[in-house]
Amino acid sequence: MKNIAETIEKMPKAELHVHLEGAVQPETLLELGERNKVSLPASDVDGLLKWYNFEDFHKFIEVYMKICECISTADDVFTVAWEFFQGQKKQNIIYTEVTWTAYTHMLQHELSFDAQAEALYAAADKAAKELGVRGLYVFDIPRQVSASEGIVTAKWLAKNYNPDYIAAIGMGGPEVGFPPERHARAFKITGAKGIPAVPHAGETEGPLSVRGALKLPGTIRLGHGVRAAEDPLLLEELKERDIVLEVCPSSNICLKVFPDLPHHNLPVLLDAGLKVTINSDDPPMFSTDLTSEYHKITETFGYGAQQLKTFNENAIEAALCSEDVRTELKRKFETEWKDITDEPD
Ligand SMILES: [Zn+2]
Repeated sequence: MKNIAETIEKMPKAELHVHLEGAVQPETLLELGERNKVSLPASDVDGLLKWYNFEDFHKFIEVYMKICECISTADDVFTVAWEFFQGQKKQNIIYTEVTWTAYTHMLQHELSFDAQAEALYAAADKAAKELGVRGLYVFDIPRQVSASEGIVTAKWLAKNYNPDYIAAIGMGGPEVGFPPERHARAFKITGAKGIPAVPHAGETEGPLSVRGALKLPGTIRLGHGVRAAEDPLLLEELKERDIVLEVCPSSNICLKVFPDLPHHNLPVLLDAGLKVTINSDDPPMFSTDLTSEYHKITETFGYGAQQLKTFNENAIEAALCSEDVRTELKRKFETEWKDITDEPD
């Protein structure tokens, strides 16, 4: 049996909550900035990494918007998606659901949803074929847009939903002041087509926001959901409905949902019997990646190999892939897990 840190490095992983725009590495941003003649606040990787470093929500949006400014063509979309999958491969992430805010790119660069989807799908195909990494996309609504703008994403999904590439509709952006009910009509449109929903809720807002998200048609998982723990009855409801939580520990600390990792409520959620997955959200912006998240929670909460295995099994079980792919993932996961844990020290 390997020591726990080595197990974390090598273990097969599945990640359900990570934003493609928020996962663009400084190297990729430099390449895109040069390609599109966008001036960046630094001209090398170290400088950009420093600039990426999370300070507050305002700065986070500034970095995020600059990244979006640099993604101006379908080729750029392919570049960020392909480089993302390569990064997942390096961490032995065998399956990933990655969120993409198509509406923002359509607004900013008049890039059609169809053109974006074509580039995203090409990157996922290449990742499956050349890297053995499976990936699906979550197309999300930025919650600050108007209800009718939110419907643009929903209508496109309702018409073009392809379960081989699209996992679900999501909802991200600022939670405070923008309750889930704002986009109820959009979710009704996708719900009528049987498209699953994975809205963010219970991150910077509490139980009321979670209850609103649970009422949206199709909700089967929650992005974050950690603040549901402020209401024991709500925790019971999540458990009864088998709602899986996509917990992003470092993101929660950066956004001050909890003061520090030892005060994160991950142990409370596990004690309540909820199905929890571990995720990186916007990795370089929170100075993390999925592997680091596992290191941090293990060092803080003393988790053993079995708990790490359960987090990943939960993610594979909650994945919105086909049953054929799930069977393949389970087989791969079990084989690799056995190989790693059986290895002599
Ligand atoms: Zn997120």
